[in-house]
Amino acid sequence: MQIARKLRKVSPSPTLAIDSKAKQLKASGIDIINFGAGEPDFDTPDYIKQAAITAIQAGYTKYTPASGSPELKEAVCEKLRRENGLDYTMKEIVISCGAKHSIYNIFQVLLNPGDEVLIPAPYWVTYPEAVKLAGGKPVIMKTTEKTGFKITAAALRRKINPKTRVLILNSPSNPTGAVYTEEDLRDIMKVAVAKKIHVLSDEIYEHLVYDGFRHVSPARVIPEAKAWTIVVNGVSKTFSMTGWRIGYTAGPEELVAGIGKLQSHSTSNPTSIAMKAAVAALTQPASALPEMKTAFRERRDFMLSKLGSLPGVSCLKPRGAFYVFPNVSGLLGKKYGDRTVTTSLQLAEYLLERARIAVVPGGGFGADEFIRISYATSMDNIKQGLARMAEALSKT
Ligand code: PMP
Ligand code: GLU
Repeated sequence: MQIARKLRKVSPSPTLAIDSKAKQLKASGIDIINFGAGEPDFDTPDYIKQAAITAIQAGYTKYTPASGSPELKEAVCEKLRRENGLDYTMKEIVISCGAKHSIYNIFQVLLNPGDEVLIPAPYWVTYPEAVKLAGGKPVIMKTTEKTGFKITAAALRRKINPKTRVLILNSPSNPTGAVYTEEDLRDIMKVAVAKKIHVLSDEIYEHLVYDGFRHVSPARVIPEAKAWTIVVNGVSKTFSMTGWRIGYTAGPEELVAGIGKLQSHSTSNPTSIAMKAAVAALTQPASALPEMKTAFRERRDFMLSKLGSLPGVSCLKPRGAFYVFPNVSGLLGKKYGDRTVTTSLQLAEYLLERARIAVVPGGGFGADEFIRISYATSMDNIKQGLARMAEALSKT
């Protein structure tokens, strides 16, 4: 069968693939500990579920405007004002089927063939693929532990050329947990504004920050920043609502109108019932969040202490999200039994077979000397999983 050329260049999401492989093995009775998960292990809070149940019973089960319900757009405007100090009107908001869909749509609307998008690496697996699907060219900006996995304004200035249209920023970051400070962002936005490039700011992990770090949206760091920033966010992580599929974009009216048009011929509106649930999530106090955050921080600290004692492994302290991203270059090239492990993928495969733990190889994030371990799983699982990892790695 002939498949479109643009799809041949795109790889399936490795994070979703590992997660479903681990879930499948577990369902078939194999004792797998899943560190691949990119979703909170907490349930969606009851008051949010109840809003959806009420919506169904009240017959809120029909089409809404393709760009999302006015009620949810209003709740998003209010949330952005209250939590982020950003002033948007409803015409600058579009609701999509998850933040991943928002990102896909943004590139479909913004890019012409050959337009370049700067992506700091390590990056979330979907960014380069979404750019390619829109005919754009991903340009990777490598970062290292030395700069805390953050780009600098000077590096950005050097990388911009006449074809550059967008820079992606993801703070807190998946997979590194890096968090940009207000000062970092001010310097970066000065360059972006001067060079007239858009900054897609993926703020999906904004509430999962630790150690006194604070999330700041780049849209507010200098007066001209808002016009060049495209804010992406959603309810998946903050409210444990990954399956509900609600995300949103706040940005210039023309872009938002373009996304509405695109949705009117593709998905139509995001699910009406899920939008009612998202209204409840955004308008009522986020009462489940403090408990979740405390659990995540404790698990992160435990994981860091255990990983720190493994020979050949080092790990920068992540300041946000729910992943650790250890450097495993000290393990690559080693022999475990009769098998030589030379890539992060081979290491992940070995750990799955020998330790029965699922981790995501760093290759998919543009950083092959690393693996991603999610701490969105119970402390018991973490204790057991890391003990098994230590045992497997001692088999040289
Ligand atoms: N951005 C990042 C950095 C993510 O990790 C995720 C998680 N899948 C998303 C966006 C998309 O989230 P969703 O589509 O569930 O809203
Ligand atoms: N963002 C999550 C992750 O990185 C969910 C998986 C996905 O959407 O690709 O694991």
